[in-house]
Amino acid sequence: MVDEIAIRVDDVSFSYPDGLEALKNISCSIGRGEKVALIGPNGAGKSTLMSLLNGVEMPLSGRVVVGGLEVARENLIAVRRQVGIVFQDPDDQLFCPTVFDDVAFGPLNLGLPPDEIHARVQEALALVGLTGFEQRSSFHLSFGERKRLALATVLSYQPDILVFDEPSTNMDPLNRRRMINWLQTSDKTILLCTHDLDIALEVCNRCLVLVGGRLVADGQAREVLYDRDFLEANNLELPLALMTHELLHEKLRSGQMDEEHRRIIEKFLHAHRHAHGPDQHEHVHLHIHPHGHDHVHEHPHDDHAHVFDYGGHPLHYVAPPEQQVSDDAPEKPGGEGGPRFRPVKGGKRKL
Ligand code: ADP
Repeated sequence: MVDEIAIRVDDVSFSYPDGLEALKNISCSIGRGEKVALIGPNGAGKSTLMSLLNGVEMPLSGRVVVGGLEVARENLIAVRRQVGIVFQDPDDQLFCPTVFDDVAFGPLNLGLPPDEIHARVQEALALVGLTGFEQRSSFHLSFGERKRLALATVLSYQPDILVFDEPSTNMDPLNRRRMINWLQTSDKTILLCTHDLDIALEVCNRCLVLVGGRLVADGQAREVLYDRDFLEANNLELPLALMTHELLHEKLRSGQMDEEHRRIIEKFLHAHRHAHGPDQHEHVHLHIHPHGHDHVHEHPHDDHAHVFDYGGHPLHYVAPPEQQVSDDAPEKPGGEGGPRFRPVKGGKRKL
């Protein structure tokens, strides 16, 4: 029977040989096809947790199960076929003389026929925008290119579960966008370990927060990542997109600008609103409808209402009725009056 749980971590603790306890009683499970962000400040234990998923390290207590297989010495080959880790530093992953050889290494080890190996290499290189680089030396590529190549070396053996450590570092905007698009449309199970909370917000539906070796929150990404107070209390900050959104709203609210600036900001907020997907947010979200624009909105959910006027423009307020605020309450995503996600039992999250 196929295990619908891709990753299960049961009460896992881990200490390094010098005695440092890097993970303390971690429990969580990730379903097949889920896209989960793993965030936390430096030293929180994110890399340690990743290294337990493919058996680079073994738990001191508790157990890790990947695709129905316990991560144990006797299962390591099978486990590593199921879970591919894309490391932060590509040079940990590249060791062949040419790009082709590096990307072919995984499929070759799976014992695939040459045609299939060729096809997989081409497909993986195309996905990361490195078609035509086959005969180049991996070590002569730029850092950003090596980063994409490292991703291709994992994609080519097609593991069901992909774990990324800071995937966007040193990527130019085009390739960052290409990678986000790929991550969004992928049907694989994805664990994204990152400080880039904008990527986390765009790609992931769930978010785990590790602090000091403990899991302190496990909830909907659009709730955890909107909670400024919680993020700041844990040395993290709101995704840039949300910060910009908040600042511009404040600017609009202050009303100290000419009509042209108002229109520019309204357009930006409008575009931003749509860039963040369908109207499924449950958090407080203001949406400007300047008079006279010709965009037709559909509001499939009952929790949308044009509830108040701002400077002559009706605002589109997206929130469940019980969370609607008065006219003079500022928008504060995830803040007071906002939604709350479930803290992990024993974690530090205060409700
Ligand atoms: P993160 O990836 O969240 O930055 P890490 O998992 O790398 O955190 O580290 C968690 C804790 O374990 C940190 O305090 C770090 O200093 C420590 N640590 C990491 N690797 C080792 C090691 N090889 N030996 C001893 N301590 C380590």
